[in-house]
Amino acid sequence: MTLPVYDWISHHAGVTPEAMAVIDLYSGRRQTYRDFDARVDACALYLRDGLGVGKGGRVAMLAHNSSDHFEVEFACRRIGAIFLPLNWRLAVPELEFIVGDADPRALIAGAEFMDAARAVTKTVGTPHLVQCADGEPSDYEKGLAATRGKCPIEPLIHDDTWALVYTSGTTGRPKGARITHGQAFFNAVNAAMKCELTCRSVGLVFLPLFHVGGLQLFANPNFHIGATNVVMRTFDPLDFLNVLSDPELGVSHAFGVPTNFLFASQLEAFGSADLSRIVCLGIGGAACPQSLLETYAERGIILQNGWGMTETCTLGTLLPRHRAMEKIGSAGQAVMHTSVRVVDEQGRDVPAGVNGELWIKGPTVTPGYWNRPDANATEFTDGWFHTGDAACMDEEGFVTIVDRYKDMFISGGENVYPAEIENVIYRLDGVAETAVIGVADDRWGEVGRAFVVTREGSNLTEDAIIGHCRDNLAKFKVPKSVRFMDELPHNATGKVTKHQLPRD
Ligand code: ADP
Repeated sequence: MTLPVYDWISHHAGVTPEAMAVIDLYSGRRQTYRDFDARVDACALYLRDGLGVGKGGRVAMLAHNSSDHFEVEFACRRIGAIFLPLNWRLAVPELEFIVGDADPRALIAGAEFMDAARAVTKTVGTPHLVQCADGEPSDYEKGLAATRGKCPIEPLIHDDTWALVYTSGTTGRPKGARITHGQAFFNAVNAAMKCELTCRSVGLVFLPLFHVGGLQLFANPNFHIGATNVVMRTFDPLDFLNVLSDPELGVSHAFGVPTNFLFASQLEAFGSADLSRIVCLGIGGAACPQSLLETYAERGIILQNGWGMTETCTLGTLLPRHRAMEKIGSAGQAVMHTSVRVVDEQGRDVPAGVNGELWIKGPTVTPGYWNRPDANATEFTDGWFHTGDAACMDEEGFVTIVDRYKDMFISGGENVYPAEIENVIYRLDGVAETAVIGVADDRWGEVGRAFVVTREGSNLTEDAIIGHCRDNLAKFKVPKSVRFMDELPHNATGKVTKHQLPRD
């Protein structure tokens, strides 16, 4: 597609200069589209002239969420460079792998990550390391302040890469998914159409901006449409409820993973939070327990379930809110311009209701991974991306995500999908959080083990949990053991990291 890329920010700075673009809750910075455009311009000039970043050059960022992220992201667009947001939970050797692979010209890092950034840039030989500090005096601020004039906007097409987002690499070396301008554009169009964004929307961004969930829902769609983004440095459930309740901010949209909404719903403040201004709370990124949907429905909020992944620049399927309760458990239908199929091991479509692998094709899907011709050859068939998710589809095209194939285990020859068991366990009153994995077993090959965090005051026992599973699930799916934990391990996005659960 040779569609030219439009510069969203300079457009809004021209037509609605006084509209609020970014409110950064940590630093207190508020930028109208005029201010934001000027900062993007200064950042673009600094990257180009101060740091020597050219078209196609990479700019890495290792920092908590802040308005700086957006400046760097849109400055990259302005000069045709590639934004490389890095996961701050990673250890130095993991970062070295990614930075070595993407080979950025500069790494911009928050003060708390400077030690790691120094180690990484030294090993990899990155030419520039720049400290940013949430608007406080820093090399980044000095660099921007030293620039003069306007930065010409580099002509780009929709196939040009805007960002590299590395997958978490739980099954091997992380891979850098190329996110093109076209993907971001079509995702923005879909988000606006399906989640009722307008230029008056106010999106709350709390997922980390190194993840597509933070960057593309609803941050970039909001910038595309000229709306406001309120940025939280990191997620905190009580802050989240307080921010939603604040009439002055007027938050209308937010997107999170199930644990974000789960933790917020377990606070006393949940019952009294003012949710009256919410237009859309999007949920996705992991299986969403039905009990959680019901808890929010009781407060008048229909959490809008959507399925997507890094490679699909977020939205792949989305459940329309008016069908949410009727199609409970489904992640919805393919978003516009995008098609999905459920196929068997030979890549043939399976009938409605039968489990298979979910494949997806369309302009929101990555054209491929950075430096990975091997993965690009095996993970795509005629433009269809193999998602690695087990799913089934009904006659109307509503997709239900069963689980990831890599989380599935086989007990006595039967496939077991942990998400189904977790859903059942979540229906028990005393359960705060749960995760199920398969562990080795002499008799059955593998059997389920449930990890459960109980709510305060609960006296749930292993027998009660197993008995409840027995009443609701086929025998081979019933976990053979339960381990109680104080908390489950999560990644920076808030998803449970199952590979860290003990298997012995
Ligand atoms: P990671 O989770 O490894 O950091 P991604 O963010 O790309 O990487 O995760 C995408 C995966 O999250 C999907 O392949 C799928 O397994 C899971 N997922 C996303 N949305 C949903 C959903 N609505 N329901 C169930 N699982 C989901």
